[in-house]
This record gives sequence, structure tokens and C-alpha cells, in this order.
Amino acid sequence: MRWSERQRAMLREMGIPPFWPVEPETAAVMATEAVAAPVPAPVPSEPIKPKQPIAVAQVLDALPQARRPDGVESMDWPALREAVAHCRACDLCGSRTQTVFGVGHIEAQWMIVGEAPGEQEDKQGEPFVGRAGQLLDRMLAALDLTRAESTADKQVYIANVLKCRPPANRNPLPPEVAQCEPYLLRQMALVQPRVVLAMGRFAVQSLLKTSEAIGRLRGKVHEVQGVPVIVTYHPAYLLRNPADKALVWDDLCLAREVWAQRGAQSSR
Ligand code: SF4
Repeated sequence: MRWSERQRAMLREMGIPPFWPVEPETAAVMATEAVAAPVPAPVPSEPIKPKQPIAVAQVLDALPQARRPDGVESMDWPALREAVAHCRACDLCGSRTQTVFGVGHIEAQWMIVGEAPGEQEDKQGEPFVGRAGQLLDRMLAALDLTRAESTADKQVYIANVLKCRPPANRNPLPPEVAQCEPYLLRQMALVQPRVVLAMGRFAVQSLLKTSEAIGRLRGKVHEVQGVPVIVTYHPAYLLRNPADKALVWDDLCLAREVWAQRGAQSSR
């Protein structure tokens, strides 16, 4: 298998050595490359047309009146954070240590959407910590991005579909996802990112309202609330299936292509 320069750069940044045989030429290059070699920016191709708009109003309409977060569609950041912190709308409130709201720049150009807090997230109150979070940070670094809140160029905001940890890290239940997703959609509306990266099955299924497998949704540009959404695997999945890292790198490159195109259309 012949790896492209961008795939090798991704693997270097993710800190993981080759995991399948490579041709001698590639192996020799990888052995001698500097760790900080720049990642080439993908060249934008044809204009990308998003599909399938989904708005927060549609999600709220689908919720029983009694379970709608009151006024969520017009909340500002402090009100939204407060609403989530005190939310007891589903049973997950009973097993959480704390809610996990989000992290990063609140006007970020990139938004990462994950699934649900795990043990460490529940303890620390921040999404994507632990080994999967470290891998995500290396993936972002490969794109010259960071989750830091103070970046002058408004880089990344990270949030999960669920704000409370499911007990024993079980899979989220559909009613829990449905109940919690208005908060995520309001976060998206406030951030107004150029591009969203949906990581993992539950993030993808929640945002795109589909039961299709990630493998069938990758490589396309979807849309939620007018924002392009790119689908990829969750970093925790990659820890178990490192052979799929190159696929994720391709997804990141597509997201970067969309981001660049949207940047050409706006000042953000
Ligand atoms: S998971 Fe979401 S809807 Fe359920 S209690 Fe937590 S914040 Fe509320």
C-alpha cells in the first residue's frame, strides 16, 4: 500500500507508527521525516453543496410539550449553560457527577460533536478527555487546530450529543438523545461554525436523523441548521481499530476542504 504524504503526516501527529506493511520507499521516508513536517492543505475541488437541512425547531416540534427545554431556541450562552447544568429532563441526571457542556472557542470555525461523556469526562466536566481525547487533540494538531478557548482565530468548539454520562458507559438510548439534542443544536446555532465534524455513530445518527452506518455516510457533505456536517469515526473507535486512521484522515481533509470553501464565502 502506498501512503500519501498527508496520510503519513496524520499518522505522525497521531503518534502511532505504521500498522500495516508499507512499501520500502514509504517506510524509508517515514523513518527519516521530521515530526513537525507541515501538513499540506487539500486543494478545494468542485463547490460542495450541503443537503438535508435540519433545524432546532424541527427537533423541538418532535418533543412532547412537557419535555421541551423551555425557551432553548433563544437562549444565550450563560442561559444555555445554566439550563444544562440544572437539567433533569431524562434519567441520566441521576447518575452524573456533573453535566459536560462543551469546551473551546464559542465562535469557533470548527465544531466537533461527540457522543456522550465517559468516566473521565464526567469527573472533569470536559468532553473528549482521556486517551480518546488525546488522540482527538493530535488529530486537531495535524490540522493546526487546538481546542483552547483563547485562540485569536476562533478555532474549535467541542460538545457531545448527551451532556450526562450514561451509567457504566452504556450506549445512549434514543429517548435520551432526543431529549438532549436541543441543547446541542442551540450550541451550534450560537457557535455558527463553518463546518461540523460528527464523530461516532450516535453523534452522526442524532445530527443526521439516519440509521445508516458511518461507512456509508463518510465522504459526503451533509447539513444541519445550514452548517455543513462531515461524518467520521470516533477517536475511541480508532483506538480499537487503528487501521481506520487513514480513513479518518481523509474525512478531516474533506472537512478542511469544506472549511476553506466556506471561508472563501464569508469573513469568519
Ligand atoms: S442527558 Fe441531557 S436531557 Fe438528560 S438530564 Fe442530562 S442534560 Fe438533561
